Amino acid sequence: MALILDLDGVVWRGNDCIEGVSQAIKILRDHGQRVIFVTNNSYPTRSMVCRRLRSCGVDSSVDDIVTSSLSAATLIKIDSSVLIVGGPGIEEAVNARGARIVKIDQKMASGENFFPDFIFSENPEFVIVGIDPDITYTRIFAACVAIENGATFIATNVDPTYPTDKNRLAPGAGSIVEAIKTVCKTQPIIAGKPSFFISKLIKDSLKESEEIEMVVGDRIDTDGALASSLNTKFGLVLSGVINSKNEIANIKPEIVSERLIDLVEKFFG
Ligand SMILES: [Mg+2]
Repeated sequence: MALILDLDGVVWRGNDCIEGVSQAIKILRDHGQRVIFVTNNSYPTRSMVCRRLRSCGVDSSVDDIVTSSLSAATLIKIDSSVLIVGGPGIEEAVNARGARIVKIDQKMASGENFFPDFIFSENPEFVIVGIDPDITYTRIFAACVAIENGATFIATNVDPTYPTDKNRLAPGAGSIVEAIKTVCKTQPIIAGKPSFFISKLIKDSLKESEEIEMVVGDRIDTDGALASSLNTKFGLVLSGVINSKNEIANIKPEIVSERLIDLVEKFFG
């Protein structure tokens, strides 16, 4: 059996590992569960995710990591040109797919005209947008121009926020996607949770005999919906975006727990 675990808000929150996580994953593995980590965070590469997991006391292999970047890359053609608004996770996935990353050659704005002038190294056939802490006005502008010129608009995910360790919500990829949508009036194809594409990627990563036992996450709209699309149980933890049972009155996860360790002890203990 396999258990699908979200990362942000389940394994860690901001810079902090959530208490009891390494013990919870040990219990799961002792019960014969393969743990597959599935994140809508498109920023890290899979090896960055493994390193981060190790810092929380969890060993993992890149084969057990599924990201929205990997899912986005399944939507592009091999040998195509891709403009990226995002981080190393998307770059790695695009390179692994054999596509080319379009560069932007920017001329400095001059005088009172602040609109940047730029040219593409080649015409983008795809634009992939994810979380980008170094987002610039130029890159948003370039993405809009490429989409208006006919490039296919792909969003790694549309989560509006990410939970941080200071109980603040940071802007998520969805906030950046909205900025681009506002300009070019085009809807993106969404690659991450709970899309059909990432569900397929998860199913493809299962070994022949493996079946999914449960999806555990901190969001109804992504993790809960992913569980439905995979036709499996949903375990909600309150260590991330939703932190009060009152907020979940309208949805029905099979199990609700404060943290992953509580859920695991309740379900597998
Ligand atoms: Mg989460």
